[in-house]
Amino acid sequence: MDEILGTVNGMKFTLGDSILELSYLFAALLFVWGLKLLSHPETARRGNLWAAAGMGLAMLTTLLLHKDHAGNGIPLTNVWIILAAIGIGSVIGWIVAMRVKMTAMPQLVSFYNATGGAASALVALLEFPKAMAGDFTSLLVTVLGLIIGSVAFSGSMIAYGKLDGKVGDIFAGYMKYINISLMLITLALGAYLVFSGIPPIELTWGIYLLLILSLLYGVLFVMPIGGADMPVVISLLNALTGIAAAMGGFIYSNEAMILGGILVGAAGMILTMLMCKAMNRSLLNVIIGAFGGGGASISHEQGTIREIQLSDAAVLLSYSQKVVIIPGYGLAAAQAQHMVHELEEILEAKGVNVRYAIHPVAGRMPGHMNVLLAEADVQYEQLVEMDHINPDMPNVDVAIIIGANDVVNPAAYDDPGSPIYGMPIINAHLAKNIIIMKRGMGKGYAGIENFLFFNEKTRMLFGDAKSSLQKLVNEIKSM
Ligand code: NDP
Repeated sequence: MDEILGTVNGMKFTLGDSILELSYLFAALLFVWGLKLLSHPETARRGNLWAAAGMGLAMLTTLLLHKDHAGNGIPLTNVWIILAAIGIGSVIGWIVAMRVKMTAMPQLVSFYNATGGAASALVALLEFPKAMAGDFTSLLVTVLGLIIGSVAFSGSMIAYGKLDGKVGDIFAGYMKYINISLMLITLALGAYLVFSGIPPIELTWGIYLLLILSLLYGVLFVMPIGGADMPVVISLLNALTGIAAAMGGFIYSNEAMILGGILVGAAGMILTMLMCKAMNRSLLNVIIGAFGGGGASISHEQGTIREIQLSDAAVLLSYSQKVVIIPGYGLAAAQAQHMVHELEEILEAKGVNVRYAIHPVAGRMPGHMNVLLAEADVQYEQLVEMDHINPDMPNVDVAIIIGANDVVNPAAYDDPGSPIYGMPIINAHLAKNIIIMKRGMGKGYAGIENFLFFNEKTRMLFGDAKSSLQKLVNEIKSM
């Protein structure tokens, strides 16, 4: 392994170095392959495993073959410490992932994202003294890694708290100005540390101040975001963690880290843009972090709530030609994905055309409904994206809304004061009949009234989604 193969810029290259470089290239290929498989629910599980294998390979070869500038490998004691840390982390990760409820998955993802940001920020913090002694580029990536990693960490922790219902929205109009000022001050301090040329020893205060400001910005940036805009922020924070990891890769000149980070950053950014489009928000608004929190809603006459009996719902659905199921967060909360699949099959056996309308932000994480329904073996072809189903909604006999609320709220069209105004929705209100299955008159994530409940075409079927669906299926079977 230590056999010298040649020299590049005066540095000796051994067989071990070449194997290490090749393993990074191979790991990067596995990341890309994994990402490709992740783009489809049927192959996503395999994609995850391939990408994890790539990461495992990169970690293993780094442990065995990495050398510092003086040509020394990782000291054995450190190898043991690293292995112990990996072991403890893996066991905790395994237990938490096995125990987590499907509905708590978004919180978990936010929490893991926070740990990624924290790791990158710590790398930058520890390497700052060395970077100060190094060149301009290493200083720049270290400072950027610290800022981005810290914002991703504290922002993701707040997102975790919000998704878990532990942290509420704190919104005030002036927060926009505080946030912009804080962002500018943080960036200015970062620039000062990079460009001042002042000796490192005199700038230790600066790096700690930068850490505090960045952490604070992460908190204040996510805090006011409410309404229905969290998906954009979660995806943006994910992209930030990727970019911060890439900065860590630059600090250590580690190609696997750079490539892995860039892939996460780029994929997260693309998803952010798609989410922005789906939510009808501009990214600038997201970065400023002061949208969608409050907003006074115009007052409507509440109108009357009409309920539907199970037997009537069973008849209506059985004698329809076209039924569209609109799933939302409540379906996941009730774990009713298998029951809804059963309803779909039983209706199809009666010749009813059944499709699922998928809103891009239904549930609590991007792709939540796709994952949930794939788990119940719903055919992927039956899931129709919002943009494709909407033109056909006026021809639909029954739109059956199960545990969804915000994503069908017409206030998005007709109430300029609503926090979800401008967000595209699934046009359930255009269907000939509407059945809404939910437990009571509870609000959705945006915390606003939904006047679709009072629409004269609407009938409410109250109850937990799973048990209501079970009863409905039994009713249809007994017809
Ligand atoms: P909502 O959160 O708007 O509404 C869910 C509804 O489900 C509630 O009104 C609740 O009413 C009902 N519900 C809860 N539990 C049950 C149950 N066991 N059985 C039946 N019904 C139940 O969900 P949507 O999917 O329509 O919208 C998602 C919202 O979350 C959007 O505002 C989106 O922006 C936001 N969001 C999305 C993220 C994403 O990436 N997808 C991330 C973060 C936020 P009741 O209590 O009366 O039963």
